[in-house]
Amino acid sequence: SEVTNITNRLDSFLGSVNIIISGGGKGRSWKWKDMLRFPHISQCMELAKTLERDYYSLCVKQPIGRQLFRLFCQSKPELRHCLIHYGRGGMSSECVQVVERYGEGCRESLEEQHSREVFIDCTDDLHEYLSGAPFLQYQQSMYFDRFLQWKMVERQPVTKHIFRQYRLLGKGGFGEVWAFQARASGKMYACKKLEKTHVKKGKGEAMALNEKQILETLNSRFVVSLAYAYETKQSLCLVLTIMNGGDLRFHIYNMGTSGLEQDRVQFYAAEVCCGLHHLHQMNIVYRDLKPENILLDDNGHIRISDLGLAVTLSEGNLVRGRVGTLGYMAPEVIGNDYYGLSPDWWGLGCLVYEMTAGRSPFKRKGERLIGKEMERRIQEEEEEYGKIFSNETKDFCRLLLTKDPRDRLGCQGSGVYGIQSHPFFRTINFRRLEAGVIEPPFKPDPRAVYCQDVQDIDEFSTVKGVILERADNDFYIKFNTGSVAIPWQTEMIEMGCFKELNVFGPQGSRPPDLDW
Ligand code: ADP
Ligand code: MG
Ligand code: MG
Repeated sequence: SEVTNITNRLDSFLGSVNIIISGGGKGRSWKWKDMLRFPHISQCMELAKTLERDYYSLCVKQPIGRQLFRLFCQSKPELRHCLIHYGRGGMSSECVQVVERYGEGCRESLEEQHSREVFIDCTDDLHEYLSGAPFLQYQQSMYFDRFLQWKMVERQPVTKHIFRQYRLLGKGGFGEVWAFQARASGKMYACKKLEKTHVKKGKGEAMALNEKQILETLNSRFVVSLAYAYETKQSLCLVLTIMNGGDLRFHIYNMGTSGLEQDRVQFYAAEVCCGLHHLHQMNIVYRDLKPENILLDDNGHIRISDLGLAVTLSEGNLVRGRVGTLGYMAPEVIGNDYYGLSPDWWGLGCLVYEMTAGRSPFKRKGERLIGKEMERRIQEEEEEYGKIFSNETKDFCRLLLTKDPRDRLGCQGSGVYGIQSHPFFRTINFRRLEAGVIEPPFKPDPRAVYCQDVQDIDEFSTVKGVILERADNDFYIKFNTGSVAIPWQTEMIEMGCFKELNVFGPQGSRPPDLDW
């Protein structure tokens, strides 16, 4: 371990040197083109046979698939007008033509109101049309061959050599979290390492696999994304969206005053609300909402992180389980009742309270409490609201901190809309927020490090007497699935690799740049 520690330090030192040498450039390895070399199309036949031919997945959801399908449409005069151009709010004439051609009802509603909802209905009509004959034609084209080649690159085995390791970001229950950089593209990530020996000793296999499997199904700007899952000799690694701005706990307590300004409270609460909504739509209860688990990025947007306790509810079923963090558990969780999504809305109430007051709702500042007393207060006591709470904030917290989940805001028929339409959120335009076009009220200082000094983070202890066996491999194999399609493809596009490598033809001619 001493040796790995030293090598890690050396690596991160060399890493910083590397950044200086490349002049703050893109940070790609000089061998990046080799790392992303396309296989010959003849090597893609197995993939072609097994790939599920689902229009939505291949041409809408996967970013590279979408780009290639659009290039295909662009190449066909009769499909060219199907490319949808829409600026902020407005709609181009081409789009209106598409609408005229493929959706009668759609055009009628368009004449009544030029809103985005109508437009969504229209794109539905358009996709229905495109998923027919054009999709079949596409699969015979060179653009689809190219898609298969990208897919093969995406599915290359992932090892630690694909990344550079930089500074230590934090410490979790099973290992450390480090800043990483993908060598091929230069994109920065956070790598959460789960030490195999720790996982085994703490019987954390099911939990680790659960976290990984939930993360890979998510795709929201308000929840950290999983881009890669792989293993090394010692650890299981989750490569996640890097969040450099610190956690909300740090911002509430360590920035001079305790508590945050009302506009920040509203903004963070609104983004958390969207993140929870995304999880809930997939029938996932998060169960661990607390300031520590909400992380800020460089721009001041937040994402929900640490999905170790999240669980997927099977169709219409409830779960039971006293899990979460002392002080943040909902009464129904403490009471060991069956519950659905309700603990998360309780959690949102606690979070808004704590961001506002600079203390959690059931504990006075600096007070030390035993677990039983904390649980009693949560189940029985009414929380108090000081002068710092505005009327709307107080009302909002009260409704979320309703003891009986059946009466709680968010848990009734209107669901999340009941929450979003509360006066507390009157300044928030949720549609714009979801689209990522709202400027955060606070931008972290790029030179600051919003966490305790890395020197103060204890070295990760080693576990003795745990032997890894053959049988452990079954679990490692399930974990070690490599790149996750959407984040990997996003990385390729965002970092410019797609544009530079997606060249067609022997002359290296590339289709004209399109305005996506
Ligand atoms: P655990 O599940 O073991 O508690 P976490 O997921 O909470 O592990 O990660 C441990 C710590 O690592 C966090 O408290 C945070 O400081 C840091 N961390 C985790 N994920 C990220 C990320 N995506 N970006 C930056 N730092 C992170
Ligand atoms: Mg944690
Ligand atoms: Mg965890």
